Parts: sequence; structure tokens; C-alpha cells
Amino acid sequence: MIFRRTILTGLVVLASLACVGASCAAQTTGPGVKPATVMPDVIQVPLAAQPSEHFDADAATDAYLAQISVSARSRSDTYFEGGYWLILWDFLYAAALYLLLLHFGWSAAMRNLAERMTRFKPLQTFIYWSEFLIVTTILGAPLALYEGYFRERQYGLATQTLVPWLGDQLIVLLVNVVLGGVVCMALFGVVRRLPRTWWIWGAGVSIVFLIFFIMIAPVFIFPLLNKYTVLDDPKITNPILSLARANGIPAQKVYQMDASRQTTRMSANVSGYGQTMRITLNDNLLRRGSLEEIQAIMGHEMGHYVLHHIAKDILYFSVVFVFFFALLRWSLEHALARWGERWKISGIGDTAVLPLVFLVGTILGFVYTPFFNTHIRTNEHEADMYGLNASRQPDGFAQAAIHLGEYRKMSPGPVEEWIFFDHPSGRNRIHDAMRWKAENLQLFTPKPEH
Ligand SMILES: [Zn+2]
Repeated sequence: MIFRRTILTGLVVLASLACVGASCAAQTTGPGVKPATVMPDVIQVPLAAQPSEHFDADAATDAYLAQISVSARSRSDTYFEGGYWLILWDFLYAAALYLLLLHFGWSAAMRNLAERMTRFKPLQTFIYWSEFLIVTTILGAPLALYEGYFRERQYGLATQTLVPWLGDQLIVLLVNVVLGGVVCMALFGVVRRLPRTWWIWGAGVSIVFLIFFIMIAPVFIFPLLNKYTVLDDPKITNPILSLARANGIPAQKVYQMDASRQTTRMSANVSGYGQTMRITLNDNLLRRGSLEEIQAIMGHEMGHYVLHHIAKDILYFSVVFVFFFALLRWSLEHALARWGERWKISGIGDTAVLPLVFLVGTILGFVYTPFFNTHIRTNEHEADMYGLNASRQPDGFAQAAIHLGEYRKMSPGPVEEWIFFDHPSGRNRIHDAMRWKAENLQLFTPKPEH
């Protein structure tokens, strides 16, 4: 979606960074929707991956990968590689949109309208923000519709028809109006009161909002789109809670959510912070994953938890925010000195400057893509290693990696993985699992009788 890379959506996305997403299609797709790259529900452990004296991690990895049909692989490669281009189109489309608002004075006109409606400055900011979001949503709709709806349906990943999908987009828009409006009022307040040091304080205020959003998201935001309930199936929860106790996680319950309302993808995540931190499994995973696979994924999620990935991400993105605000200060000063008059923007405290702020954010987000992905992928790899050690389910983990391959390219080149992958590739994940298995074969061979 066009706003994927904008600040606010970024904040909400950050609220559940830690996911093992995978996808599926068979049972959940409605009539008329062709499943895309469906993998078998329960994948058999191939011969080369079964314990033996000549167990070889490379051969076991190849044997797992050989279970994926050529057509399934080529469709998921096409889907995933299309995503590379969408990063570019999203960037160009958004940049053009923001320039349009500036160049034709539409941003100044929206500000004038807000000023005619009230004399109260913070309220003017809120009204401008609402106008800005509505206008950019309408102008960005063609690409958002293609990317979020038609393309997902084309690949059998979406389960919604157009009207419920639009309903969800409306909810997201309203959340963005309210939460983004509050952030905007606070930030413009800072800029107007502290015209010299605003960028430092602005970064500080943004970090506080980031932590706040991560904390409230699982309780107040995510339930607007999906139903979250406590998972109540002892067959699944008993081993998970045992795993949690063994790893010093004080969890009493595991949550589930009805992701199948929107998508066929399997996933699980750790979300929230402090009191709201929780592990959630989606219903696609519960329906299609084997018990071994669910445990392998839970081990991974517990890795995020025990390794404090959300807290570390907050720290990491705090540094990114400071860098972004420094860049913002420099670029706003230069751009306004040059084009401010033509764009009818009086200064950085003028709300009409907002498209320029988003333009800088979009450029930074685009250039930053490989570094962002590498940061996330590094955490994911750590969680993978933790999960293998904790769950001792290398075959369950390999199965999860194959299910992921329904929408993610399994065997990219190393540079491709570095730039585009926010999780280790399926091939690398299976190889990690098989390497672990090779070193722990005694766990999988029957004990000799005494
Ligand atoms: Zn993860």
C-alpha cells in the first residue's frame, strides 16, 4: 500500500514486528478464488531428512525443497519478485503525489480551508491532517487497490471480497486520522514553540508515541480488524505453556486471532510491550500446521520474547528517528528557502509543509529498505536459532519454512536476500534446521533396549 512506508503506519506495523508469517490457501479460500501456491498441510519428513548414519544437512535440505512442485515454486517466486517492483512503484507514486500537492498549491489550499474553519492552531493542524489523509488516500487508491486487493486475490492469498476489504481500509483510515492527528498536533506544537531545537524534541516525542502505540496496539488497535480470543485447546496449549515455563516466560495464556477473515497466510507474532506483551497464533496456522510445526513456531516467537526484540527494536528505531529528524531539519530548511514561496508555505511551523515531510520520509524509507530488512532479518535469524534449541522440532521448523514458501521466494541469491528479505529465506531456514538436526541426531533415533 502506498502508505506502507509512511511514519504512522510504520509505527503501527512496528507494534508487531515479530512474525513468522506463512500462508496457505486450500480450506480458507472462498468460492471462485483459485489457491495460488498451495503446499501440503502436513509435510512428510523426506527420506534424506530421516535420522541415519549418513545424515547430511545439505541433502536433507534439498529433499525438503524437492517436495515443492515446480508450479507452486514459480508462482510464489513471481508473487514475491513482483513485490520488489512494488517497492519502487510505491516510492515513485508516493513521491509524485506529495510533489503534486506541493507544486499545485493544493497543500496550501487545504491549510487555508483549515484556517477558515477555526482560529485554534492545534485544531487547524488536526483538520489539515484529516484533509491530507483523505486526499492522499483517494489519490493513492488505484495503487492501493491493486496491491492490497486485486493482486492478493489473483494469487489466492486474499479471502475478502471488495466491500469488507474497503471496510477494513476505512477503519485503518479512521485510526490514522485519530492517532496521526494527535502525533501531528504534538509535533507541530513542538516546532512552533522550539523553532531552533525542534528536531531533537520532535524525535523524542515520536519515540514516546512509538512506545505508546506498541503498548496499546494489541489491546485497542488490532481488535478493530480481527477478533482476538484466548486459545483454549489443551492439545495445543499444554506443550506451548510447558515450553514457555521452561524458558522462563510467565505466560498463562496464548491468544488466537481470525486472520482467515482477510488472508490465507499462516502466521504468529509477539506484540505489545510491558503488560500488553503477548504471543498470538493465527487461525490459518492452527488449522493447517502440524503440532510439531506449531511448537517450532512458538519456540521462534518465544525467542523474540526472551531476547527482548521489541525493546531492542524500540532502541534501534529511536536512533533512526533522531537521524530522520536531523535529515528533516536540513532538507526542510533548504527546500523551503528555495521553493517555499512558490508552494505558499510560510515555514516549518506551517501545516502545509506536511507533504514535504512525507516526501523526505518516503525517500529515506526507500533508500533504507535493505538496512531495515537486514535489521529485522537478523532478529528473525536469532529467533530461529533460539526456537530450534527451545522446541527441538527441526522438522516442524522445516515444514513452517515450506508453508512460508507459499508467498515467499524459497531460494534467492545472497544479494537478493540481503536487499529484499525481512526473514531468512526458506532454503536457509530449512538448512539451519537440518544442521541443528545433524548435531542432535540422538534425539530422533529410537533408544536401544536395555
Ligand atoms: Zn519472527
